[in-house]
Amino acid sequence: MPQYDFRCNTCAERFSLHFKSVANYAAATPRCPACDSLELARVISGVAIPQAQRDYRKMSAGEMLSVLEAGEKKQVDDMFRQVNSRTADDSGSA
Ligand SMILES: [Zn+2]
Repeated sequence: MPQYDFRCNTCAERFSLHFKSVANYAAATPRCPACDSLELARVISGVAIPQAQRDYRKMSAGEMLSVLEAGEKKQVDDMFRQVNSRTADDSGSA
């Protein structure tokens, strides 16, 4: 069951929501439980290392999906570059 963490841009409340599936999340319109605001920012949790040092090659498929959903171009670019370099490394050592 995917869990998504949010931070409210209106009142800075942080909260987590659970969804039955990624599709449920995509169809949902989460609101802040404190002030009912729709101005929410996704918080990517569960990755303790700083984003600049994030090793996408060690990410699970679910974590990669979170990056794609977050839609931050630099993160997505970094992820694909690292994944592609892993593929090249694997073929080179085989
Ligand atoms: Zn709020």
